Amino acid sequence: MSNIHDLVFLKEKIQELKDQGVYRKLPVLEGANDAEVILNGKQVINLSSNNYLGFANHPRLKKASIEAIEKYGAGAGAVRTIIGNMTIHEELEELLAKFKREEAAMVFQSGFNCNAGAIQAITEKGDIIISDELNHASIIDGARLSRADKAVYKHADMDSLEQVLKESRDKYRNILIITDGVFSMDGDIAKLPEIVELAEKYEAMTYVDDAHGSGVLGESGRGTVDHFGLHGRIDFTIGTLSKAIGVVGGYVAGSKTMQEWLNHRGRPILFSTALPPASVGAIIEAIRMLMETTEYTDRLWKNAKHFKQKLGALGFNTGHSETPITPVIIGDEAKTMEFSRRLFDNGVFVSGIVFPTVPKGTGRLRCMVTAGHTEEQLDRAVAVFEKVGKEMNILK
Ligand code: PMP
Repeated sequence: MSNIHDLVFLKEKIQELKDQGVYRKLPVLEGANDAEVILNGKQVINLSSNNYLGFANHPRLKKASIEAIEKYGAGAGAVRTIIGNMTIHEELEELLAKFKREEAAMVFQSGFNCNAGAIQAITEKGDIIISDELNHASIIDGARLSRADKAVYKHADMDSLEQVLKESRDKYRNILIITDGVFSMDGDIAKLPEIVELAEKYEAMTYVDDAHGSGVLGESGRGTVDHFGLHGRIDFTIGTLSKAIGVVGGYVAGSKTMQEWLNHRGRPILFSTALPPASVGAIIEAIRMLMETTEYTDRLWKNAKHFKQKLGALGFNTGHSETPITPVIIGDEAKTMEFSRRLFDNGVFVSGIVFPTVPKGTGRLRCMVTAGHTEEQLDRAVAVFEKVGKEMNILK
């Protein structure tokens, strides 16, 4: 029985997950990711997607996708450095650079892939990567792939960052400070102006992963760097094309030098097939829509404020988010998961987030309001929150 091919060592680990009560099946969505969906066979209001602007199922994106398929086919057929680089990829990078108000942009197959490829390409032995302790998993993995040394500073703590900078300046050739632009579990915004000042003082480079700021903050969703007016003072800005933009992919925006180098040493560019034309066509359309109007971002913020205000008025603890990410902090892990289950039974889907994704005792329902929700849907969701909150004695 204990044959290696029976994967007994994995079966034992899976049993441990079951014993800890954290084993789960993947939820299944029937149809597109929208404000209201059929999930595991039940109709629910969807408060858990990163589809901030409602673009994932937008008719204009779908039409652009179909047109791109007609012209360029279903797949790119190769990595970009061989023969997978089509005019549509070049068009996207030019548009992204313009949108982000940077010299150039380099597109990757996902946000995760982008961090995995870019961080190791721009650092080497003799350098140090200094990372906020709450940075995303793809940054942690990207840093692990680099031969540079690593240090972590306390979340958003500028004294802690300065301490590491002081200790590092004379020991290393290059210093790279990495931070999320918006922290995905709490919705707080990085203190970029202060980080930039410290970076300039200690001659360090800056790398901002703006997965949750792009399409959300700044003029028409240009991101956290635009929000603070820091163009030209951040070396590498990362964005995803999978959240607000509604499709898939990631990019680095910055200088032409960055682009030239990643073309040669960004391993996902060299060793993984280029984004499919259908995705690229839809992404281009999404960015054009953002450049045409602030209508989508305005609606996102209006909905987020409405929802947050109503939950707060009921007495829920919605943390200190500065963005549409709305955590409802329950605390206890088991209670958080029970709350999520009861919401689902009452027609609202919000995934419970517990340790180890967030610190012990800070379990939360991470609500993601989008531009695609109607006020009626949000009010219905709030009413369900109130009902479950009272049932579980979380609200008085
Ligand atoms: N960075 C951050 C901060 C993220 O939140 C995510 C998505 N969870 C990613 C990178 C990865 O992006 P993608 O889903 O496009 O791979």
